[in-house]
Amino acid sequence: MMKKILIYNWKMAPGSLKEAASLFKRTQIYADKTRTNAEIVIAPPFVYLPLFADLGGPKRGFTRIKIAAQNVFGGVGSAYTGEISPKMLKNLGVEYVIIGHSERRKYLNETDEMINGKVLAALKAGLKVVLCIGEPKRELRIKNYELRMKIAKNYIRKQLTKDLKGIHNSLIVAYEPVWAIGAGKPCYPKDAAEMIKFIKRFLSVKYQASSVKVLYGGSVDSKNIKNFVKYPEIDGVLVGGASFKKDEVEKIIMSGEKL
Ligand code: PEP
Repeated sequence: MMKKILIYNWKMAPGSLKEAASLFKRTQIYADKTRTNAEIVIAPPFVYLPLFADLGGPKRGFTRIKIAAQNVFGGVGSAYTGEISPKMLKNLGVEYVIIGHSERRKYLNETDEMINGKVLAALKAGLKVVLCIGEPKRELRIKNYELRMKIAKNYIRKQLTKDLKGIHNSLIVAYEPVWAIGAGKPCYPKDAAEMIKFIKRFLSVKYQASSVKVLYGGSVDSKNIKNFVKYPEIDGVLVGGASFKKDEVEKIIMSGEKL
C-alpha cells in the first residue's frame, strides 16, 4: 500500500521561535508515539526552518518529521532581495516545498506563470514539490451535480496545464478548493475523491505521470480527517489552521493511525 502523506501548513504562525519550537516538539512527540505509517511533514514559516531542519534532521537522530517550506523563488540569480532560493532550502535539509498556495495566489498575486517557474526551479534543485490547486468558487447555485463538477474540473484542467507547463517529473498535488480553505467547512469527501481521481487521470494521460500523489486540503481537522483518508485515491491531507491549534495536533496525528 502507498504511504499516505500528512502535511501541516503552519501558515504565518506561531508568533515566536519559542512557541514554534514547543509546537514542533509536541508534534514530534505524538508523531513518535503513533503507529501510523504516514509521512508527516511540517511547513513552518521560513524564519523557523533552520531550527526545524536541525531538530527534525539526522543531526539529532530524529528523522520522523520531514520539513517543508511554504514558498520558494522561481528565478535565476541572486539579486532578489527578500527571496529564498531552492538551493538554500536544499542545503538546509528541507525536503518539500509548497508552491501555489491559494493565499499566495490571491493576496500576493502569484500567477500561473510564476508558479510554473517555481515548480521548475524547485524540481531542478531536487526538492519535492507540493503544488496547490483548486477552484475559487463553489457553484452552489447550479443544482445539477454533474454540471457543477464539470465547471470545477474545467478550472482545474486549465490550472494544471499552466502550472505544469514543460514539467514531467513526479510531484505531489494538493487539491484545495479555495472556498473550503479556512472556512471551517470542508468539501464533501466524495467530491474530493472524485476530483482527485480526475486529477490523476488527467496527469497520467497528459504527462504520462505515473507517480503523482494527490492530497486533499481545506478545513481538515481531527474530526473529519478520517472521512477523507478512507478513500484509496486520496493520498493524504494538507492541514492548515488545525495544525497549529494545541489540542488538535495530537488528535490529528492519532487519528492518522489509520493512514
Ligand atoms: C491550507 O492552509 O492549505 C489549508 C488547507 O488551510 P485550512 O486547513 O485552515 O483550511
